[in-house]
Formats: sequence, C-alpha cells, structure tokens
Amino acid sequence: MVHPSVPRHEPGSDRPRRPPRRTPPAGGKKAPPILAMQRLAGNQAVVTGVTSRSGRTVELVVPGRQHRGLAMLDAADVRARMPRFADLRAALTDKKLRIPEAVIKTAVTQLLDRMAKENRLKSKDPVPTLVAKIFPAPGKISEAAFNKALDPADRTQIYQTVLDAHTTIKKADAAKLKVLMKDAGDLMAKASGDAAGLAAVFGGQAAVAKARYASGRTALAAAAADLDKHVTTDYNLDDPETFLGGWAQHSTQMMHLLASVVKGTDPPESKATLVHEASHLGHGSVDDLGYYGTPAFEAMSEADKVNNAAHYEELPRRLLGVSAFAGHTFTPGTKKGGGAVTRLDIVRKIASDHLQHAWDAASDAHMWVRGVRTSWLTKKDTTPFTTDKALILELSRFSDMTVHQQAAAHARITSLDVVIIESIVRAMGLIGNLVTAEPLPAGPFSDKGAADVMVAEAIKKYGQLLKNPARDKALVDWLAAHFRSLPSPP
Ligand SMILES: [Zn+2]
Repeated sequence: MVHPSVPRHEPGSDRPRRPPRRTPPAGGKKAPPILAMQRLAGNQAVVTGVTSRSGRTVELVVPGRQHRGLAMLDAADVRARMPRFADLRAALTDKKLRIPEAVIKTAVTQLLDRMAKENRLKSKDPVPTLVAKIFPAPGKISEAAFNKALDPADRTQIYQTVLDAHTTIKKADAAKLKVLMKDAGDLMAKASGDAAGLAAVFGGQAAVAKARYASGRTALAAAAADLDKHVTTDYNLDDPETFLGGWAQHSTQMMHLLASVVKGTDPPESKATLVHEASHLGHGSVDDLGYYGTPAFEAMSEADKVNNAAHYEELPRRLLGVSAFAGHTFTPGTKKGGGAVTRLDIVRKIASDHLQHAWDAASDAHMWVRGVRTSWLTKKDTTPFTTDKALILELSRFSDMTVHQQAAAHARITSLDVVIIESIVRAMGLIGNLVTAEPLPAGPFSDKGAADVMVAEAIKKYGQLLKNPARDKALVDWLAAHFRSLPSPP
C-alpha cells in the first residue's frame, strides 16, 4: 500500500499497481500477464483533513507526516473484524478439520486484541476476560458472550460474507457514479488544456502528459458506458478494513473502486481517485511510483512523474480545491519547501517501502485467500486450494492462520482464516504509518540496517502482530519478499 516508493499515508495516496502474476501450474486458471492493478489507500478519511485545511497536508500524529492508517481510524466505517459467530463455531466444531481449540482461542485472542488496540470492541472487558467468557469450558463456545463483546449485526465488526466483497455496482449507485466519472473526465480535459499547469507539474514531459490525460479520459468514458463490464466494488467493507482504495488494470480495462468512492461520499476525492485510475487505464506505462503527497513526491524526476498516476491527480485536484501543492512548480530533486532530502528521509523511505511491500503482498494474500474460499463456497471447487496448497500452508504458518493446524486431508480456508489475514493486512498498514515517525537509530548502521531497526521498532509500537519480535519480523519480511508474486485470486 500502500504505495510504491513511499508509504501510503498521504492524502490521495494509493497503492502500487499490481504485479505480474505467476502463472499457476497446468490445470489452474491462467493469470493475466500484467495486472496493472493499483490501489488507493485511505483516500477518503485522509483527504477530509486536506480539504478542510486549505489544501495543506494535515499532520495528524507525527510532525511533518500524514498518517493514512491513523487517519483512517477516525473513519466511522473502519473497524477490525471477527467472523460471524456461526462461522467461528463451525471452525471449532468441524469434525473433519479438527482445528485444536487452543488454536481457535489464540486466533480469537489475536483478533480481539487488534480490535481492542483500536478501541473497537463493544465490551470494555479485558480481552482475556472476553475470551474466557466466549470459551467457558473445553469444547464450549458462548454466543451470548460473543454478542456482548461484538455487535453481530455490524458489518464493521463482523465479517459477513466474501461474496459481497467483489461485485458489480448496484443500480442505485450507478447513476451517481456515472456523473462522478463524467466530472472526472471533464477535469482531465481541462488539465490537458492547461499548458501552464502541465509545465508546472510535468516540466519537459508536458506534451506526453497531455496525451495521457486524453487517453485516460477516453478509457474512463468507455468504462462509464458499461459499468458492469469495467467496474467492481466492495459492499462487504473489506477495502476500508485493509486500507485498499481500489485498483485499475490496464490489460483488461477493469477497475475496482471503494464503495465510498462509488457513492461519492466525498465527491472531490472520488473524482481525484477516478482520474488516478483513468490514468492507469489509459496508458500501460502509467504506474505507481510515488503516491500523492508522499515524501519527495513533488521532487520526482520528469521521467518518473509522467509514468506516475498520482501526478495526474494534481491538476484536477487544483481545480477541485484539494491540492496539497496549489500554485507550486514541481522541480526535480527539490522538495516543496526547498529543503534537501536528508539521510533520515532516505532511511525512512527504505523502511516505508519495505512495509508498503509487506502491506501490498498481504493485501494480495487477502484477495487470493478470499477467492480460494469463495470458490469453495460457491462451487465446492477445491482446485484453487490444492493448486497452491504449499504456499497457503507457508502463509498460514507465518501469519497464525489455522490452515496448517487443520487435519491435512480436509484442510481449507475457513472464514476465520479470511478474517485473520484481513487483520494482518490492516496491521501492515498501521505499522507502515508508525514507521514514518521513527527516528534514525544510533549506531554505525547502513541505510538498510537502520531501516530494519525502524521497522522492528514500529512493529513493537503496534504491539499486536504475533507478539513475538522474531516471528513478527519474519512475517513482515516474508510478505515483503512476496511482493507482487502471490497468486491471483481464482
Ligand atoms: Zn495507482
């Protein structure tokens, strides 16, 4: 996430586009060659701050930095979640899976701890007390105690169904979305006609940027003309939970938008997001090389800017009054205030990139695991599981999912596992935000060594990953190592 060379915690920032997928073994569904997916994390909440303060980046917690995840915590629709009681009980009592009760209790404890960390539980009881009440005796699980800890009707607390997480736009939302898309296209037309603005943002690449605004606008209009074919959204609220802001895929001309973007909860932000996605759809070279407002965003080279979707947001944002750089002429190598890039900037960027890659891979893992479960739920298709079983087991071991603890012959992805990986994605986003506040560690570290210390410290500050520093770091490193290499959802 959260984003490319920089973390996704800035206004309008989003995630890097999606990686080339590995092709599954014969028999599996062939993955599209290059999924130019990209995600926008936390646009909504973050930008609220920006728009309300005259276009300036708001410092939420850490001086000088905007914290996407922390901002997201203020959004009413964001909470860490638990599976439905029935799903939890099913995991506990499944005679074939035979998941040890201790494993389930550990998972529930971790999930509740992560929710408690964000003050998201209905009950104020300490987590160990809640767990003791939910599991009153060996083999027993109490729905009444579960419902005291959590509101079973609240989708922001309870994971309802994977089937709503990736779906077409509801009729009631389609008309509004089309208006937003039209407005976004109009903004792109104005931007492409703004010679001075193009020069201020893209410098010597202004002519190329102008052409890309045009191709993006064309692609967006085509998508608006057939929403069912080109656009999906998420009514299960998986996206805000994991800070996923959407993605676009040039090869298929598909894009996935947050439900709040579709509904136009924050119209300027919806339009900026659509401009961003349109720039990916319009040209295959437009990637995510630095999200909007991330460190040194305005100092990027001209060659990078013209291939970076977030830079296409800038002129439309100026028109919408939600730019963080209004009136600024972007100069490669120079930050907005004129300051030079420091060693702290460099090391933080390495640490942020590492966690961004971990977040991105965790997000991929979440969508993949969710898809594996959906295949089983809807078609009783076990092929996606067996095809990638070894990797699923590896992920399960690293992240404390239950798959590797299940009876091997019957192992599958349970609802509990989907929720566990969802909470891991969320944790990566939160830790990614925390790391941007870390100071340079003392000692003769290399830049990479210093960044490693920062990552470990940020994990420690989060405190609710796996509660074992070595395993925590191993999980983060495993995810980062699998950046853009995990299977596509079936
Ligand atoms: Zn993007």
